[in-house]
Amino acid sequence: MKTIIERIDPNNINTEIISRAGEIIKNGGLVAFPTETVYGLGGDALKAESSEKIYAAKGRPSDNPLIVHISDMADLGPIVSEIPEDALKLADAFWPGPLTVIMNKSKLVPYKTTGGLDTVAVRFPSDPVARAFIKESGGYIAAPSANISGRPSPTSGKHVVEDMDGRIDMILYGDDSLIGLESTIVDLTGDKPMILRPGFVTADMVRKILPDIIFDPALTSVSKDAHPKAPGMKYRHYAPKGSLVIVEGEPKAVVSYINNRLNEDKAKGKRTGVIVSSATAGSYLADRVYTTGDAGDEQAVAHNLFGILRQADDDEIDSIYSESFEDDGIGTAIMNRLLKAAGHNIVHI
Ligand code: AMP
Ligand code: MG
Repeated sequence: MKTIIERIDPNNINTEIISRAGEIIKNGGLVAFPTETVYGLGGDALKAESSEKIYAAKGRPSDNPLIVHISDMADLGPIVSEIPEDALKLADAFWPGPLTVIMNKSKLVPYKTTGGLDTVAVRFPSDPVARAFIKESGGYIAAPSANISGRPSPTSGKHVVEDMDGRIDMILYGDDSLIGLESTIVDLTGDKPMILRPGFVTADMVRKILPDIIFDPALTSVSKDAHPKAPGMKYRHYAPKGSLVIVEGEPKAVVSYINNRLNEDKAKGKRTGVIVSSATAGSYLADRVYTTGDAGDEQAVAHNLFGILRQADDDEIDSIYSESFEDDGIGTAIMNRLLKAAGHNIVHI
C-alpha cells in the first residue's frame, strides 16, 4: 500500500489535508496522527472493519482494546450506556488532555473496537491537529499508538514512518509529541475508580478529584499470574532489541556497577549503551550514552524515553543499562514503561 505522508503544522493547520484525512477514515481507511501523548493509528471507531484493519497494521493481539478518541463532550453520550458522575468530574478537570476513562459501552461501539469487552475506553485529546482530524472524521476515532506491536510508542513523525509506511493510507506528520508517554487510564466500571495505567496525569492529581482512587494491584506485581485489568498491560512492550537492565541505588555505586558490567560486555564484543541523566552522563564508559535530561525534570525524561529506546535499536546496541527514576508523580509512569521495556530486569545495589 502506498502511504501518503503529509507534513502538518499545528499552528497553521492545513484544512485541505485534514479534510482528505477525514475522507479516508469515512471510507474505512487508516490515518496516523499526532496527539499530545504519542502518535495514534486512527480508524473509524464505530466500524468493526476499521478496527480489524488497525489490529492487522500493528500486528496487535485482537483482545487488546482500542481507545476511542472524541473531540467534543457532546459526542461522549452516544458511545456509553450512561455517563457516570465521576466521568464528568474527571472530564472537567483533565479533558481535553492525557486521560482515558473506561465506561460501559453503548451498542454503537462494535466489540471489535473494545476487544470483546462491554466497556469502552474514551479520551478527548488536547492536540489541535488530533482534534481537527477527529472532528472531520465524524467524531469517533479508534486509535492505539501508531507503532508495530511490542515496539516503543512513536513520539515523532519519523517513528511513525519507520513503523507504518506501506501499512496505512496516510500519516499526518506533525511535531514531536509534547508529553511522550501514553495517557493515564482510569476505570470507572468497578466498585472503586482504579488507575489501570499510570501516565502524565498522576495519581495525586486524580485523587484530588476522586479521593478513593486506587491503583490496579496487578500493576506493581511482577508475578506472571497477575492479571492487569487493561489487557494491554500484560503484553511485553517497548522492549529494545538488545538486553536492558535497570540499576537502582546510590548514584556513585550505580555508576561503578554499570561501568563494571560495561567492561565485561565490551570484552565479549558487545555494543553497549546507557540511559542516564545529564548529571552522571560524563561518567559512563558505554559506546553510546543516551541522556534523558535532568533526572528531576520528569517531563523531559518522559518526553525523551521512547525515542531513546528506538535510537538504541537504530544504533544496534546489544546491551543497555539504565539508571532508575523516582517512582512518584510522572515518575510512576516512567518507571512503569521502563520496567516493561526491561522485562522487569532490575538490579538493586
Ligand atoms: P494504546 O492505545 O496502545 O495506548 O493502548 C490502549 C490501552 O488501553 C491498552 O493497554 C488497553 O488494554 C487499554 N484499554 C482499552 N480499552 C479498555 C477497556 N475497555 N478496559 C480496559 N482497558 C482498556
Ligand atoms: Mg500502545
